[in-house]
Amino acid sequence: MSTARESLVVMKFGGTSVEDAAAMKRTAAIVAGRRAKGLSAVVVVSAMAKVTDLMIASGAAAGRGDRNGALAISERLRTRHIDTAAQLLQGERFVKLRPVIEAEFDALDDLLRGIAAVGELTPRTADLVVSFGERLSSRIVAEAFQQYGSDGQHGLNGAHVDARTCIITDSTYGKAVPREDAIEAKLAELVLPLLLAGQTPVMGGFIGSNEQGITTTLGRGGSDYTAALVGGGLHAGAIEIWTDVNGIMTTDPRICADALRVKTISFEEAAELAYFGAKVLHPATILPAVQKSIPVWVLNSRNAENEGTKITAMAPPCASPFKSIAAKKRLTIIDVVASRMLMSHGYLKAVFDVFDKYQCVIDMVSTSEVSISLTVDSNQRLPEICAELSKIADVKLEGNKALICMVGEDIRGHNGIAGRVFSAISHVNVRMISQGASEINMSFMIDEEDVEEAIRSLHRVFFTEVDETVFDISARTPELHARPAAASSL
Ligand code: ADP
Ligand code: ASP
Ligand code: MG
Repeated sequence: MSTARESLVVMKFGGTSVEDAAAMKRTAAIVAGRRAKGLSAVVVVSAMAKVTDLMIASGAAAGRGDRNGALAISERLRTRHIDTAAQLLQGERFVKLRPVIEAEFDALDDLLRGIAAVGELTPRTADLVVSFGERLSSRIVAEAFQQYGSDGQHGLNGAHVDARTCIITDSTYGKAVPREDAIEAKLAELVLPLLLAGQTPVMGGFIGSNEQGITTTLGRGGSDYTAALVGGGLHAGAIEIWTDVNGIMTTDPRICADALRVKTISFEEAAELAYFGAKVLHPATILPAVQKSIPVWVLNSRNAENEGTKITAMAPPCASPFKSIAAKKRLTIIDVVASRMLMSHGYLKAVFDVFDKYQCVIDMVSTSEVSISLTVDSNQRLPEICAELSKIADVKLEGNKALICMVGEDIRGHNGIAGRVFSAISHVNVRMISQGASEINMSFMIDEEDVEEAIRSLHRVFFTEVDETVFDISARTPELHARPAAASSL
């Protein structure tokens, strides 16, 4: 393994950080700030905010045969991208980039017409449709980076890289699995020379291609994953995930306005949170970074001065039991009840084999002598799974469930935690409970409609008085701020 390039930082900017010309300018200034400190940067960008959703909608419309509906969405997106480039780029640069953007949209429109004519959207074609989002945003940002400071010594010297030439994956369209060795080789061949020449490579996140060069995607939110793959492949000194909040917070600030920034969190805690629904980070992001011990930062592109959250191998000691609360919605509980006649030592295996056959991920399991309860994503292949399970047991489904996951390395050091958690939400119906499976999380299932209320109640109990070495309370309202910080009594 080659040694880390300490002065290299991979900076990923999410959709809101490139949502319009003003956001792209802020992004350029943030990258220039890093370069001014003597660092070199590879920049990974998402599609402009909401563009991926709209491209998915246009592909779906075309797949239904609604050609005009699909083309209307594409037309709106064309105007938005051209307008953004026009506001951002001066004279000649805009004149040069405009035909590039127009050509991308012409290709997208041809594709949508083709899909509408056939009336079918395959996973492979759906990936090609959504790929335009990152292909376009990265082109515009790269051009903006060429313009930035081009007249002075602090130029960014942007260089566009088509991510599909570097991010090599298998052919699982919609959620492709990256081939890390191939990626590392491509990055060394195509990106490293640009860095050595003092340029700032800019590439789209989320998209890749298989070994035949066919476009793939890494799954929703996958630009974070791209950043981690690029950071891992280039042995970067740090990976920065720039988003629209101050870092990883004690819960989703959209649910709880009092959420606090967590200053430092361990890889393990962050991975658990991401897996269990904290959208701020893609679950797969952490792995390539952990393997190479590359610190990951989550930072706010609208408030670049804020210190953000640092994700590190080891969490510092913390007097508070939990770091954050996440929620994963759209889950279904499957109760599998065996008749006693059928009970045998191979029973559990037979049940799990069914889930394995349909490649269905199980989030939580609880068992008793005759029954097993499991939770899965509601959009999985449930009907087929249930039909098969029915051959060996009685099966009952309960939809519209959510999993609340409370994460913290310090749960184990606190007695009576479960009692405090469940008395905080005594008014909520709790279905399944799991503690200790991973030692750093405590999870339970509730009805989807209770999620917001439950999170607010739990947040009030566990994050009103906190360990100030780990949580930033500076944004607290004066009334809350005034309370004594009795971290040691937690
Ligand atoms: P980006 O487009 O930059 O990738 P995302 O929308 O994917 O941004 O993720 C950022 C959002 O994640 C925030 O606006 C916030 O609402 C949500 N979020 C959920 N849980 C958390 C959490 N624990 N900490 C911070 N943000 C969270
Ligand atoms: N644009 C993609 C999405 O919205 C990937 C990303 O932003 O991370 O899912
Ligand atoms: Mg995201």
